[in-house]
Amino acid sequence: MSSVNTAIQLITREQAAGSAAASTCSPALARGPWDYDLAEALAGKPAYGPGASAADVAPASTPRQGQLPEEYKRASDAELDARIRAAKATLGDRAVVLGHFYQRDEVIQYADFVGDSFQLANAALTRPDAEAIIFCGVHFMAETADILSRPDQAVILPNLAAGCSMADMADIDSVTECWEQLGELFGTEPDADGRVPVIPVTYMNSSAALKGFCGENGGIVCTSSNASTVLEWAFERGQRVLFFPDQHLGRNTAKAMGVPLEQMPLWNPRKDLGGNAEQTLIDSRVILWHGFCSVHKRFNVGQIEKARAEFPGVQVIVHPECPMEVVDAADSAGSTDFIKKAIAAATEPSTFAVGTEINMVNRLAAEYPQHTIFCLDPVICPCSTMYRIHPGYLAWVLEALVRGEVVNRITVADDVAGPAKVALERMLAARP
Ligand code: SF4
Repeated sequence: MSSVNTAIQLITREQAAGSAAASTCSPALARGPWDYDLAEALAGKPAYGPGASAADVAPASTPRQGQLPEEYKRASDAELDARIRAAKATLGDRAVVLGHFYQRDEVIQYADFVGDSFQLANAALTRPDAEAIIFCGVHFMAETADILSRPDQAVILPNLAAGCSMADMADIDSVTECWEQLGELFGTEPDADGRVPVIPVTYMNSSAALKGFCGENGGIVCTSSNASTVLEWAFERGQRVLFFPDQHLGRNTAKAMGVPLEQMPLWNPRKDLGGNAEQTLIDSRVILWHGFCSVHKRFNVGQIEKARAEFPGVQVIVHPECPMEVVDAADSAGSTDFIKKAIAAATEPSTFAVGTEINMVNRLAAEYPQHTIFCLDPVICPCSTMYRIHPGYLAWVLEALVRGEVVNRITVADDVAGPAKVALERMLAARP
């Protein structure tokens, strides 16, 4: 099976010739990510580039990538491959390359570890000799790796513009403002059972500042693998939960735990009290931040109905960042790790329709050729923020390391990293 990038290049050429059989959400994805670095520099503002997250607003604080040296833009695939392999060989154990499941194949081939964001941050801990951790993921993942790694280890994000539009939907100022409004409404006194009015819970897909906010305010971090365990932890200590940034993970998890939908109001940060009546918030169990993943928002029930009609017996597995109707219509829902394990556990040749990012789905299809595995979304639309990491950027940061230079280091300030680590440690301790 060709890579997502190869498929997009082909679709773009075929579209130009008027003969495309497949489609991509943006032919502009076929261009080099440095085109967007340049466009951002000219426009004077950050942008997420084409693809699933293109319609999301990049906050002004979103890091911008400077211009990649011309030699890396012009290098052929073969030349970049040779240069990356040579740099890695020279660096040896001094550098470890991490690749997220949603990263493009052209980069994943150089990864020493492939996994989800938390698995990768922990994988880096198994390489204490590594002076540099090159995180081929997005910004919040590199921040988490920096929080968990040793101070003398440099965490590097090959393209600083590789952010996460969902993580950027909740910023520290808006969450602090929300927290203050909730504090005025609920007060701070615990109830008769000793439970405080509200516990903040942040998804791993959030800035270090928000993880630190949770650490400072009796809160905790969750992943898509442990969200229900973390919510149980929070309900033992609080009357309700403020969950950010992903409304879908919060809603899907709490609903599966029996929380009624009417007790899960949505908090719109642009409105007073999040756009809710006071009584609605008083009666709530989970207050959901108005955030979402633009990649997983693309999945819909119609795609599931089509898959069931075309492939009788198909098993539909989706990620809990998908909307509730999609999770309800699927056979099962779970994290990337859950999806991988579900497919690995199938002993008979089976058909799986998977609702998560296409790079991961295509890799699973290649790994398990005995099964028919396809992405529920027929349009080729990768996570466009993660897609901004291209082999050219990887070659650039690795060759800089060979010269003794650290470029694109992600550093979390100590006053943020400390409380963020507290919230992460609470998550680890909450494991069943
Ligand atoms: S897939 Fe969604 S949540 Fe994951 S990095 Fe991309 S935008 Fe963020």
